[in-house]
Amino acid sequence: MFRRNSFTKFIAVLMLVGLVLFNGVVGFAIEDGPKASKNVPKYVFYFIGDGMGAAQRQIAEYYKQEVTGDKDAKLLMNSFPTAGINTTYSSDSLITDSAAAGTALATGVKTNNGVISKLPDGTNAKTLIEAAEEKEIATGIITTTRLTHATPAVFASHNEDRNNENEIAADFLDSGVEFFAGGGNRHFVPQNWEWGKSKREDDRNLLKEFADRGYNVFESSDSADEFRKYHPDGEEKVMATLAYSHLPYELDRKQTNENPSLAEITEKGIEVLSKYNNGFFLMVEGGRIDHACHANDAIGSIDDTLALDEAISKAYEFYKKHPKETLIVVVGDHETGGMGLGFSKNYFLKLDELTDIKASVEDVLTQKYDGNRDAYFTYIAENFGLNDLTEKEKAEILKAMDIVDGGVEYDVAVYGPSSYGPVAVATTHIISERANIEWTTFAHSATSIPMSALGVGAENFGGYKDNTEIAKAMAGVLGFDLMK
Ligand SMILES: [Zn+2]
Repeated sequence: MFRRNSFTKFIAVLMLVGLVLFNGVVGFAIEDGPKASKNVPKYVFYFIGDGMGAAQRQIAEYYKQEVTGDKDAKLLMNSFPTAGINTTYSSDSLITDSAAAGTALATGVKTNNGVISKLPDGTNAKTLIEAAEEKEIATGIITTTRLTHATPAVFASHNEDRNNENEIAADFLDSGVEFFAGGGNRHFVPQNWEWGKSKREDDRNLLKEFADRGYNVFESSDSADEFRKYHPDGEEKVMATLAYSHLPYELDRKQTNENPSLAEITEKGIEVLSKYNNGFFLMVEGGRIDHACHANDAIGSIDDTLALDEAISKAYEFYKKHPKETLIVVVGDHETGGMGLGFSKNYFLKLDELTDIKASVEDVLTQKYDGNRDAYFTYIAENFGLNDLTEKEKAEILKAMDIVDGGVEYDVAVYGPSSYGPVAVATTHIISERANIEWTTFAHSATSIPMSALGVGAENFGGYKDNTEIAKAMAGVLGFDLMK
């Protein structure tokens, strides 16, 4: 009797599994491709975490639980009702760069690494922002990197090489984008600019050209206060290059609060764009999650992911006021660093190892070793929580110091590119190992990326998709025509 009962159950389970699989197959055949939504969202937020894979999202959430003491704390982005996952490969590599990944997210087409919103054959691919501008929808581009960096660039320019940042800056003039805010004023001011640091090789002052076209211009980190106090009276346009290069890492920014946070900038973007009657399309990039992970900086990645989540909370506040008209989509472009949450043969993460760190690896720690060993050890004791180095840990740092002091060639697979230096890399790896986090690379990885969505048309952003399908789904929901 018992056996027969089990057998019946077994058959029932088999049938159920069969039914689910059958439905899955039929469902895929019928529902493949984006559907036109009955309701078209008037307000669209497209959040992109550069380098933000599943590990980056999850460790930020666990860290939030660690510092708040609330084991149920979630990232807002991880609580959205629709979740999906997407592949990221480019036309010429299974490991994408930000230009090809961004092109897919902005235009729905694949291209080669390094290319900004063009097909591999050089044809321009229409972007979601260009499509929005054609329909007289106000648009915005916000980033914590230079505005001319790959992810913001793909939405409002076309170039065969992401490194042509001076050309990309000039392209923005004719984009019609109503709100620009990020870093990178070095590509907008003429050569031999007053402080002599422009990267331009001509005499164009693009910021003046933007002002001549009616933009309110905020031209450096000195204008942060002015930017914070600015409020539009009506339909106004903004070009804000709030830093020479990238905006600071959140970890460094929050020490002084001199620069506006990504959440503050997003709030300003909403304020400006919501003055337009025809709705808006706003892209917001948390651009430095990627940079932190290139430098294998765990807390740098966590803080910038939390800063992106804060920015998303500003969109969520807006959504709560306009729930029937707003769509919020959150994606990453690729994973960076091969961030592993777990290492060796242990079953723990020790996130308390990260709570005393007061500075980023890339922007601060890499500048700290100048040959004075005692000063360096004192510095990392005070600012990186490393006041109790084991003999083995100290030996790792001393070995890196020997390499630097001796001018010895080293393996980039071990110590990363020369811009970081072996001492900073040895130090950040000690911190990661203490937390039980491990990294496989100083570059990107090919892992698939989580996405989530909320609001009108959000149901189109679930499933296991390719990154090109996200832009296509967005175009489908909004009634835009992108390149087929
Ligand atoms: Zn990227």
